Amino acid sequence: MNGQTFQLWPDLPLWILRLLFDNLLRYIMFAGIAWILLYDVFLNRLIHRKVIPGLPARAAVMSEVQNSAVTIVVYAVVGVQTVWLVSAEYTQFYLDIHQYSWLWFWTSIVVAILIHDTWFYWTHRLLHAFRILRAVHRVHHESTNPTPWTSYSFSPLEAFIQALIFPLLLITIPMHLFAFLFFLIWMMTWNVVNHAGFEYTRPWMTRGFPGRLWMTPTGHVMHHENGHWNFGLYFLFWDRLMGTLSPDYDTRLLSVQHRTKAP
Ligand SMILES: [Zn+2]
Ligand SMILES: [Zn+2]
Repeated sequence: MNGQTFQLWPDLPLWILRLLFDNLLRYIMFAGIAWILLYDVFLNRLIHRKVIPGLPARAAVMSEVQNSAVTIVVYAVVGVQTVWLVSAEYTQFYLDIHQYSWLWFWTSIVVAILIHDTWFYWTHRLLHAFRILRAVHRVHHESTNPTPWTSYSFSPLEAFIQALIFPLLLITIPMHLFAFLFFLIWMMTWNVVNHAGFEYTRPWMTRGFPGRLWMTPTGHVMHHENGHWNFGLYFLFWDRLMGTLSPDYDTRLLSVQHRTKAP
């Protein structure tokens, strides 16, 4: 693609429609599957693994879905701007897999994940640090008993901040289309799993290195209970390094992991 090929008409409306559809489908697939499996099919079998015992109110879930509809529109708008950046060759996005090595293909995914974790941690810290930004982040914290649908429940401005990671990555590092898609799947998976509210880890998984650096559903649910701690996304490096991991985290995690199913 080059700058000449992206036309306001018909490319702009076509890309907006396409990205709206892509984002909607991704959200419904990931959050919907988790919702059906955890909150319906396997609910009785897994309820003892729910970090916050008890189910969220129906009105709260409906409000998460409404907020997410706006997020999908914001993601599509930033997505179109990103497509334009790619077409105008402002990014390092590539389609020919041989342009860089296979080693770089896999490394680029790891680097993208680390950049995203860092972007998320620090923007999230800022969103909590100032009163005006806390107002921007308040919508996400309306979910005090998060569900898979919380994963896109943001105010429009916060959705915009979250979506900036896509152009930021493509400008910063060379990424192949499939590496980028892999990153999107990774992002959706952990966003939904950590908001779903069911602890899947076992004590042996989180005891030593690298498990102690891995964000768990318990860790993120604790952030929704008390916004002073646990700002990380996929990992806990930044929280452990900056002293923002809840002092109760390890005990709470163990207590959830050791809960047994009621007979
Ligand atoms: Zn959250
Ligand atoms: Zn927060």
